[in-house]
Amino acid sequence: MNRLIFMGPPGAGKGTQAKVICNEIKIPQVSTGDILRAAIQNGTEMGLKAKKFMDAGDLVPDEVVIGIIKDRLAEADCKNGFLLDGFPRTIEQAKALDSLLKDIGISLHAVINIAVPDEELLKRLLERAKIEGRADDNEETIKNRLVNYNNKTLPLLDYYKQTGLLKEIDGMGTVEKITTLIKEVIK
Ligand code: AMP
Repeated sequence: MNRLIFMGPPGAGKGTQAKVICNEIKIPQVSTGDILRAAIQNGTEMGLKAKKFMDAGDLVPDEVVIGIIKDRLAEADCKNGFLLDGFPRTIEQAKALDSLLKDIGISLHAVINIAVPDEELLKRLLERAKIEGRADDNEETIKNRLVNYNNKTLPLLDYYKQTGLLKEIDGMGTVEKITTLIKEVIK
């Protein structure tokens, strides 16, 4: 399986697992969060527009991230597969992705959901805030990101359950243990 979506709340370890899996199966990790942070750093118009949403822990408007994914999936390195990390995050984005993939004539192989309880997420995110100093990792913003996740992104699990693509992974445990579980599911 090489056309994948990784889902999960902020702090679930999605990005970490995405890196490991992409390295192993040699597919690009397409992270809308990384692309947006790069845009902010480069001072692009898109970056300026996205920054205020990201700093507040809010979702960037759908049309912005859908545009990012459309351009990124058209690049040559996505021809042999890709791992979407942090996209889609709303039903609107998932529908846009469906129609985008339909236009290209390909379909997804699996949607991996890494599940972690809220209390553990808060703990992990506060810890990460201390280590990485990410602008959107203060307590108020973190809580807002979790609220947004529960309201806007969680309904996507049902969306993908209905298509039969959803694979649930228990995100509690060591990085290695979770990688092994994911590899079992996508082999
Ligand atoms: P991440 O690195 O995936 O946690 O994303 C960091 C921030 O970027 C999020 O809190 C959002 O503000 C924004 N972002 C990333 N991906 C998306 C998306 N698919 N839809 C809306 N906002 C996004």
